[in-house]
Amino acid sequence: MGKKIFLCLVLTLMFSLSTAAIPTSAATPPLAGVKVVVDPGHGGRDPGAVGINGLTEKQVNLQVAKALRNCLVEYGGATVEMTRVDDSYVTLAGRVKKANDSWADRFISVHHNGSVNPDHNGTSVFSANNGSAQSHDLSAKVQKRLLQMTGLRDLGANTANYYVLRNTRMPGILTEASFITNPKEEEKLRDPGYVWREGYYIYRGIVDHMGN
Ligand SMILES: [Zn+2]
Repeated sequence: MGKKIFLCLVLTLMFSLSTAAIPTSAATPPLAGVKVVVDPGHGGRDPGAVGINGLTEKQVNLQVAKALRNCLVEYGGATVEMTRVDDSYVTLAGRVKKANDSWADRFISVHHNGSVNPDHNGTSVFSANNGSAQSHDLSAKVQKRLLQMTGLRDLGANTANYYVLRNTRMPGILTEASFITNPKEEEKLRDPGYVWREGYYIYRGIVDHMGN
């Protein structure tokens, strides 16, 4: 009996020592102290692009945005604000106001592309024409990660004159990971695992850009 108690004490001591030996830096999440606004494009009466079998961009954007939010919070330790969390219609000005009022560090607008050509597919990310060097860097890093995930044609980290990018005051990007109008892609976008990975890889790009 006495031996057993002794062994138990030794094991407890060893366990506490090994726990204490873990460096504290390993416990610091990469985006601690960072605030991100995640903007799922479209919503409500505005479906965005629509797949041939009826999947809407607004649905997929929201699912990816929620996956991204969860990764940013759970893995990154970031604070996140969403411009919408359900199927509601939010104006572009409303999205910009929410982002600017929040004084967030970064703005991520999640979209999917559309084309009249059903064969067309590819991955692209946009920053504003007049955007900061930080926004272009964020765009390039997220594009790189998204390409790893989608394996689609590289349509580039581009610049555009999108309203939400032009008017938000923090560095921001707009993601177009794939074309929902491509029937094969539409099928993939119905898979919650595929959609989760898209959110996760956007997160990885953000960490590449600003993680500690
Ligand atoms: Zn869109």
